[in-house]
Amino acid sequence: MKIFKHIAPLKSHLKEQRLSGKSIGLVPTMGALHEGHIALLRASQQENDITVSTIFVNPTQFNNAGDLSRYPRTPDKDTRLLEEVRCDILFIPETGEVYPAEATIKIDFGTLDKVMEGHFRPGHFSGVALIVSKLFHIIEPHRAYFGQKDWQQFAIIQQLVDELNFPVELRSIPTLREGDGLALSSRNQRLDPESRRTATIFYRALRHARDLLLQDMDIPAVKEAVAQMIAEQPAAQLEYFEIADKKNLKALKSVEAANDVILCIAGYVGGVRLIDNLLMEGAPALSGARL
Ligand code: AMP
Repeated sequence: MKIFKHIAPLKSHLKEQRLSGKSIGLVPTMGALHEGHIALLRASQQENDITVSTIFVNPTQFNNAGDLSRYPRTPDKDTRLLEEVRCDILFIPETGEVYPAEATIKIDFGTLDKVMEGHFRPGHFSGVALIVSKLFHIIEPHRAYFGQKDWQQFAIIQQLVDELNFPVELRSIPTLREGDGLALSSRNQRLDPESRRTATIFYRALRHARDLLLQDMDIPAVKEAVAQMIAEQPAAQLEYFEIADKKNLKALKSVEAANDVILCIAGYVGGVRLIDNLLMEGAPALSGARL
């Protein structure tokens, strides 16, 4: 694996590769790698001649300085893991390489970034869009791989690509979970053993909500049931639970077709912020009448 810390040599290496007809897949990460990241990498390896992983804890997407400083950083372990899984290129720059001066550009996504993560983490998606745009310009990938776990992020990056004509195909990869359902996340490393046990509450709540919707329960009652379920766990705090249109992410007042629906949740366990979501996809059609 070739490791680059600087943009210029990475760009010239990739230019040579492109000129010799090689296709390039990009897997952007913030490190503290787990099997979820590796699933993205494997998807890229299947479709591209060269896979570039990036590890960069992007300061502009953190709206909370404590969250940024506590974000887990394990670069040596990550590098070994990427070697093992035969990643071709790792780009792991220092902050000053990516942001030589303070970033001033703000990107607004209209309605998409005003709900859920965007509402509770103001400026987050502007920072995500900025780093992803930079990585697209630096690496010029043919394809880029993102996880369904960050569903809203994917919707926003798709809008970014569409509106700014980035010549890249986006791929969205299903969420990898632990045996007990907890979505793999770098932040899980910060859970103490008791919080780790409690952390499954969010996925259990999502599944419970899906079951209730399939039983034709109306949306306010489902939301109430989820809030109640989480309130019963004193170590967990719910930030939001939304039943949304999976394309435009608008909160739904009624569910017409289950296939259009995504359930999204965010909250804290033991001071660690976790998010998760569940597509209603594959669920039998709902009557809609009573929802
Ligand atoms: P992060 O390092 O958390 O910024 O994540 C980098 C990429 O990995 C993002 O596209 C995430 O959506 C994706 N990702 C994170 N967790 C998972 C998971 N459990 N399964 C699949 N992809 C994931």
